[in-house]
Amino acid sequence: MQTLLAIEKNWDACAANAGGPRTIDLDLLLYDDAMIESPEIIVPHPRMHERRFVLAPAAEIAANVVHPKLRRTIRELLTQLPSPAADEPNLRIFLSPTDIQATILDLHRNGHRIGLVPTMGALHEGHISLVHNAREQADIVAATIFVNPTQFGPHEDFRKYPRTLDADLRALASAGCNLVFIPTANDIYPPGFSTYVEPPVVSQPLEGICRPGHFRGVATIVLKLFQLLPAHIACFGQKDYQQLQVIKRMVADLAVPIEIIACPTVREPDGLAMSSRNRYLSPSERQQALALSRALAQAEQRVRFGEQNAATIVTAMQATLHEAGITQIEYVALADPETLAPQTTVDRPTIALIAARVGTTRLIDNRLLLKAT
Ligand code: AMP
Repeated sequence: MQTLLAIEKNWDACAANAGGPRTIDLDLLLYDDAMIESPEIIVPHPRMHERRFVLAPAAEIAANVVHPKLRRTIRELLTQLPSPAADEPNLRIFLSPTDIQATILDLHRNGHRIGLVPTMGALHEGHISLVHNAREQADIVAATIFVNPTQFGPHEDFRKYPRTLDADLRALASAGCNLVFIPTANDIYPPGFSTYVEPPVVSQPLEGICRPGHFRGVATIVLKLFQLLPAHIACFGQKDYQQLQVIKRMVADLAVPIEIIACPTVREPDGLAMSSRNRYLSPSERQQALALSRALAQAEQRVRFGEQNAATIVTAMQATLHEAGITQIEYVALADPETLAPQTTVDRPTIALIAARVGTTRLIDNRLLLKAT
């Protein structure tokens, strides 16, 4: 104790006013397994386990040291601290790639576990469920809002894709998201940008046929976001089932150090899968659109009652769509849940997928038919 005070004094560490901050503050936090309770000094420091500014630097030099009273390592004490966002739901907004990258790397160094939620904005409860999922497994949640031009085809809705930034920021803040990165296309694809990810084989059927180039754009932006926001986990929705498989495969193939968390599809009470594009639907199209989830639910029921023939199930699904007045069916398919290779017999887990246009709006939905036991 005397030694520490002497060092402080020597370094001219006087507080400007009594009890105020000092230019240097030395504390004895732990001393082996010793416990000291004297009028002069208490060891372990009585509040060290409550203070992030103490635990974070301590974790950098002595993460595995065990607190003699609490019998927890410094790393465990740090990860058990309540998230700063729990008491102050402040959303920090980042526009610059270098700033967000530096901040995330800093959070890493301070022992935080970071969850990432990439989005294109126009947020709904499906997106917010990803934030909640990330919150459960990480103490810092970072979202991105970027309508990625390279994943849209020349005749697709890039220009008119809904943009609702103010509402998005409010929704992210109230869901407890800590950081949001909102780059411009120029930030992500500056002049001279010419490196793209060649997506894995699972990108080729279904969406790969209907939307050539789509998954090349998706894989490229997702990998770039993983570089700019190197999180521990990233949450993606099962709503975009093939996208999820493409990303999982890319992460495995390229050894990207991030865990991909698949989150269930959030639906409206009547079954329609939530989508930013649902807002394009007129009231009558909104009714027609219900046929997608209905066809999938009926397919699941058929399988539960013993039907195994994929062609029979697909024909029935197509009939349900037609009956609702949906004529522009892009695909109705039963496939292997991991590779998306077509499946002819539903005698093992099978994913059923639909893409169809309702009016001019392209909708997709899917459902797992036979769950692994
Ligand atoms: P998007 O903004 O459409 O690119 O979607 C961003 C993320 O939200 C993706 O991981 C989507 O799969 C996910 N997502 C979109 N709609 C839903 C939904 N209804 N339920 C769960 N996740 C969703």
